[in-house]
Amino acid sequence: MLEEIISVDNIKAVKELLGKNERILIFTHKNPDGDAVGSSLALYQCLKKMGKSVSVVLPNAFPDFLSWLPSIGDVLLYDNEAERVNALIDSAELIFCLDFNTLSRVGDAATSLGNCNAVRVLLDHHPNPSDEFDILMSHPEACSTAELAFRLIIGLYGISAVTYEIAQCIYTGMMTDTGAFAYASTRKDIYIIIAELLATGIDKDKIYRSVFYNYSLSRMRLLGYVMNEKLKVYNKYNASLITLTHDELMRYYAVKGDTEGLVNMPLQIKGIKFSCFLREEQPGKINVSLRSVDDFPCNAVAAKFFNGGGHKNASGGELHCSMKEAIDLFIRALQEFKTELGG
Ligand code: 5GP
Ligand code: MN
Repeated sequence: MLEEIISVDNIKAVKELLGKNERILIFTHKNPDGDAVGSSLALYQCLKKMGKSVSVVLPNAFPDFLSWLPSIGDVLLYDNEAERVNALIDSAELIFCLDFNTLSRVGDAATSLGNCNAVRVLLDHHPNPSDEFDILMSHPEACSTAELAFRLIIGLYGISAVTYEIAQCIYTGMMTDTGAFAYASTRKDIYIIIAELLATGIDKDKIYRSVFYNYSLSRMRLLGYVMNEKLKVYNKYNASLITLTHDELMRYYAVKGDTEGLVNMPLQIKGIKFSCFLREEQPGKINVSLRSVDDFPCNAVAAKFFNGGGHKNASGGELHCSMKEAIDLFIRALQEFKTELGG
């Protein structure tokens, strides 16, 4: 009933690898989001149930709104346990790389991952994967890596392998990467998959509330501050910018996840096609989030100006400079992409 996305040959290759390898790791990207964590935990639970010795590693902490996910307590954080994880990488036979397209996206663990002897299997929906992987299941047409995890699991073991807990993780990944099915989500297969997930008994309304209605009061205050005082619109370029310095984040007691979704909001303004959010996570270190609608390629902007990349409509990067320099760079990017922005 589903259109083929992951090829039969790739499913077969993964099946064979799982048949001959025991020590398995699942890795995802730095600053993991709902899709990274959801897809990783879904595959982790599936392989564990199949009797494999499998561990799941996140480069650094996950946002609090994912802390209810089944088996989240099993994850290893590279930030906290680098030595233990490096030992696991060295002895691993098979490493699944989920929701990223180049090893540099895992941060400090990239070197160990690049040098190890394990077979590296990519399962991802970002364009332009690097050549660091042995098996490529790279499918930008998928709404999320969680959708691909569903396809891989049923390809390997059939629909009965999708438990209630696995379905919760997959639904969370699909929901968070599509803004609760508001973008990147017009393919009919998505809803066929959702129907299968619902059949396991998951409560999708509750999952929505657990993720999106679970913020602190300080996040709401921060939102008010941002909308009133920090949102700047560049009408000439159909673009917007939000900046938050480290001091401002501290003033509003912002914790991991509190700024999630902020970058999407200016796209609600009529005519805005491109939104940028500059967040100074540490003094002098600026995290860049970019979002766009229709054909404007924010991944091209991320690659050219912000040391990053990503999807056409959702990308990001990183800068090591002052906020003023970052803003200047953003303005230069607007000027450079003036024609594409319709300015
Ligand atoms: P976010 O704005 O939610 O942090 O990231 C949105 C998307 O941008 C991610 O799913 C990822 O594809 C991409 N992205 C974010 N940060 C980076 C980065 O530093 N490098 C690259 N290559 N892509 C990034
Ligand atoms: Mn994703």
